[in-house]
Amino acid sequence: MRRVGLLGGTFDPIHFGHLRSAVEVREQLQLDELRLIPSARPPHRDQPGASADARLRMVELAVGQQGDLQVDDRELRRERPSYTVETLETLRAELGTEVALFMVLGWDAFCGLPGWHRWEDLLQLANLVVLQRPDYDLEVPEVLKDLLAARSASQPERSHGQIICLSQTPLAISATHIRALVAAGASPRFLLPDAVLDYIDNEGLYRPSTED
Ligand code: ATP
Repeated sequence: MRRVGLLGGTFDPIHFGHLRSAVEVREQLQLDELRLIPSARPPHRDQPGASADARLRMVELAVGQQGDLQVDDRELRRERPSYTVETLETLRAELGTEVALFMVLGWDAFCGLPGWHRWEDLLQLANLVVLQRPDYDLEVPEVLKDLLAARSASQPERSHGQIICLSQTPLAISATHIRALVAAGASPRFLLPDAVLDYIDNEGLYRPSTED
């Protein structure tokens, strides 16, 4: 069965925490492809700092030409807020039922899952892959403890419905920290790819607005 991994995020900006996780998940689960899916107007988060076009461009620059990671811009082509469950439905409609889908989430995102639109339908459509995230010492909600007890698996065997917890190289990097560094005039170099940093510099992203 073909295996497709999906890593959604605001990528505001994309950094090595995302990219290293993507590479390691791809290898550990022997995925045929791993798609990075920038989100348009995240329903459950503050509005991002860079435009959708800029965030997409940074993801493309980060991934480069190598072809081991793909970029899927379907959520940016939509007019409405992009609920993950709807994204998975469009992917299922396109790829069919004979493909195993793996939705990758950091621990912080996983702990927030009960706030997501139709979150209980997600496992009908995909497996969940949960990654540890240093510096996010969040308590898992009771409802997710039950879900973990019922659905955890060590090996991916099904097209959907399993939860797989993976450990990867811990990288305590966040987009929030990178935005704060740039806003303070400090360098975020070596937390994200040089091509992305050059883009941020050239476009003047994340600097304090001079109009205020
Ligand atoms: P922000 O700081 O703006 O909230 P972020 O760094 O958390 O951004 P997102 O684009 O929100 O980045 O993250 C997309 C996905 O990647 C989420 O599931 C998140 O948990 C995961 N993720 C982000 N950074 C890391 C990291 N350093 N290690 C593991 N997972 C990560």
